[in-house]
Amino acid sequence: MGESEGPTRILVTGGSGLVGRAIQKVVADGAGLPGEEWVFVSSKDADLTDAAQTRALFEKVQPTHVIHLAAMVGGLFRNIKYNLDFWVGTRKVVSCLSTCIFPDKTTYPIDETMIHNGPPHSSNFGYSYAKRMIDVQNRAYFQQHGRTFTAVIPTNVFGPHDNFNIEDGHVLPGLIHKVHLAKSSGSALTVWGTGTPRRQFIYSLDLARLFLWVLREYSEVEPIILSVGEEDEVSIREAAEAVADAMDFHGEVIFDTSKSDGQFKKTASNGKLRAHLPDFQFTPFKQAVKETCNWFAENYKQARK
Ligand code: GDP
Repeated sequence: MGESEGPTRILVTGGSGLVGRAIQKVVADGAGLPGEEWVFVSSKDADLTDAAQTRALFEKVQPTHVIHLAAMVGGLFRNIKYNLDFWVGTRKVVSCLSTCIFPDKTTYPIDETMIHNGPPHSSNFGYSYAKRMIDVQNRAYFQQHGRTFTAVIPTNVFGPHDNFNIEDGHVLPGLIHKVHLAKSSGSALTVWGTGTPRRQFIYSLDLARLFLWVLREYSEVEPIILSVGEEDEVSIREAAEAVADAMDFHGEVIFDTSKSDGQFKKTASNGKLRAHLPDFQFTPFKQAVKETCNWFAENYKQARK
């Protein structure tokens, strides 16, 4: 794990979210290494927008490495400002960006060099500029402290422990919840928009395995896109069909074109990832959807929805 003096204590912020839970699972299933101590924290343990609480958390845990997943819509500039003070003693920090922070007007496929090439989409400029600042911060840390803090850029993540709320959630968990309701009431499934937009979906457990590789092996400051290939991009219609198949739903499917399609596509290149890990096996999309649907059915009561 790079500079490996002494024990390795990895603090995962946002530890109870979609990606945090997936990392907990792959570590519990045997992906942890001897000598690694994993500490997962959520907003219940410390409010990271509060400087004193964050300092107390870092003093208590004394992490050598941080996977920074905690995020808020709004307030992120404040996090970034304070986090600067706490992370100087940490050997490595891996933060999480998103493909929606890239310039609105761009060429495809998007790659890691393009983050700052133009304004983001107006619908999420606050979030995008805040996330872009993490990359600025990582470069500054390297320049000033020689630290190789970095960031990953996943495409659309889904899996167990996602937010299955129909109004607020993302498309796959939303569709899974909707199919569940359509089946129990015998009604049609309503997919929002035309079904033609295209997305690259990554299974949270695959992303978790890649996070561990980034933490241990990836030594660049420049971020890395974690995604399935361009050839594995699917339309929203195909995604809805995968959910319907997985849940054995044979009812009517309606496309509500009064709802927004959002960005038509944000196709990202996983060329850099493939250059490092040519043999990494992604879970086949249909299998990952099936596992997520099963998890939702088995955990219906506790699932966020
Ligand atoms: P995005 O990738 O950031 O745009 O986020 P989403 O995961 O919310 O994907 C949005 C795409 O899925 C848009 O094209 C929506 O029109 C389409 N979509 C279809 N049905 C649903 C649904 O039930 N929920 C959501 N969130 N999006 C849906």
